[in-house]
Amino acid sequence: MGSTKDLNQPEVFAEALVHATLLHDREKLAAWLAEDENVTDNPFWPWFAYFADRLIDMAPQPEHGFQSRPTRTVAAPKIGRNDPCPCQSGKKFKQCHMDKEESVDWKLGSPTPAIKAMAVSRIIQASPVEVLDKVPHEMASDVVLTEIAAAYHNGGKLEDALGIIKKVLDGDREDPHILWDYWIARYAEWLVEADKTTESEQFLMDEYDAPRKVAAWQVAQKLAAYYVDQGDTENAETWVDTALEGNNENPFNHYLKGLLLHSLSNWEEAEASYSMALKMSENFREEERAYMTPLVEEALKQVKNKEPLDVEEIEEEEA
Ligand SMILES: [Zn+2]
Repeated sequence: MGSTKDLNQPEVFAEALVHATLLHDREKLAAWLAEDENVTDNPFWPWFAYFADRLIDMAPQPEHGFQSRPTRTVAAPKIGRNDPCPCQSGKKFKQCHMDKEESVDWKLGSPTPAIKAMAVSRIIQASPVEVLDKVPHEMASDVVLTEIAAAYHNGGKLEDALGIIKKVLDGDREDPHILWDYWIARYAEWLVEADKTTESEQFLMDEYDAPRKVAAWQVAQKLAAYYVDQGDTENAETWVDTALEGNNENPFNHYLKGLLLHSLSNWEEAEASYSMALKMSENFREEERAYMTPLVEEALKQVKNKEPLDVEEIEEEEA
């Protein structure tokens, strides 16, 4: 027997739920768990089949708003300590495979909300729009809804994407797996994409007046980005400074300041702001840094050559 999948690893568990949803096939799922194509010949087949069934029960079901199916209560196959080992070694189970096979990677508890969120996001990314159209929204969690909105946006269904995000943002914002700051920024950007600039500005102003689950400076940062994007330097300056007053260590705030100064051909100060953004991003998490650094480096290169900012190019790279 080869190695089996270790379901105690959150990523492996999430991947198993993805397979359970997309494969819809007990035998294929069991083969994947066992890393054994001929899983039905495997002496431990009853266990692999059992775990496959459990995973299929727990898998997020699109037709149920990505909730799990009601779980069947079936006991795990049991082998007594003194029974002959199923591997047919002739030894007692306790002297052979008991500790090896019914050890860590064979345990399967209920997935944590974080594991479910990980799996759901993968399943939605892999699902065609026709499947997503049939997901009942009233049963779906906010994580599911934001993932569907992102899929709709990527698929060019901008109005549907906007409708979903508005509903989520208007809700209680209790879901701990959602970055509210991120979705506020996306919603404002998507409104601009849909040529609803006034609505975007008003939305951000309302958020700034009554922030929920985000800091006021984070909303100020979105307003700054909005005005930089619109070429409204006066308002951009006001909101960049407000964002920086609120958080002087956030690299994106310094980057926005750089963009503003850059657009005013204030080369040296723009360079200083971009350099500060790079310095501050060293304290950022890996994925945020990976996103920030190329943007800032490109702008910095342009400002050093006293070239006007080529925003078009940067936005394309961003997408
Ligand atoms: Zn054995």
